[in-house]
Amino acid sequence: MLNILRIITIFPNLFDSFSNIGVVGKAIQSNKVSLSVHDLRNFGVGKHMSVDDTQYGGGPGMVMRPEPFYKSVEFLKKSQNEKPYVILTSPKGNTLDSKKINQLSKKKCIYILCGRYEGVDQRVQDLIVDEEISIGNYILSGGEIPAMVIADSLIRKIPNVLGSSESTLNETFSENILGKKKEPVYTKPRNFKGLVVPEVLLEGNHKKIDDWRKKMRK
Ligand code: SAH
Repeated sequence: MLNILRIITIFPNLFDSFSNIGVVGKAIQSNKVSLSVHDLRNFGVGKHMSVDDTQYGGGPGMVMRPEPFYKSVEFLKKSQNEKPYVILTSPKGNTLDSKKINQLSKKKCIYILCGRYEGVDQRVQDLIVDEEISIGNYILSGGEIPAMVIADSLIRKIPNVLGSSESTLNETFSENILGKKKEPVYTKPRNFKGLVVPEVLLEGNHKKIDDWRKKMRK
């Protein structure tokens, strides 16, 4: 079960509010998971702590050098006994879905490497990465948002992170819903601009409510 999550990025500040609010913030504060964000630049090369350079063979844009990622992963590994499962965010990677999240949530310790620019030198993948993960078939300007997507969906899977244990059972993609999408949900007011809450939800007959919910899953 996931317990340690480390993110390596050149923009650690992007994670400040992510790791402080909502389900993710609470999970960290209550020690359900240890999330740490590490500045790749601390492992940069030379006087300027450089993390990128021009592409061999020519071409536009910069490529992230291998040494900083290598050094940062080696450094972080020293502070723990657990062997990390290292993910590189990449549009070429395996596409994230609920099945992949279920698989990953069984790992004890995950590191997520965030790419930028034209991507990451191939030798990072060859030497330290266990799996490349994409969050969809489009290109983003960096791996930080993908890292947040992966981290958020993993953290809410940790037992007792969500308020009620029911919450993960009856949601879209969960086993209970059997590949269907969750039924519509309603709250107050009963009548909003002429659209009224289905009567069955107001009657308090739990068997009827269950049947209605099942019927409404598409
Ligand atoms: N030139 C590369 C794209 C680089 S985008 C190519 O053609 O494949 C810069 C970085 O953003 C990537 O290294 C990766 O870390 C991240 N990134 C961009 N889109 C992504 C996606 N769909 N899923 C995961 N990471 C992505």
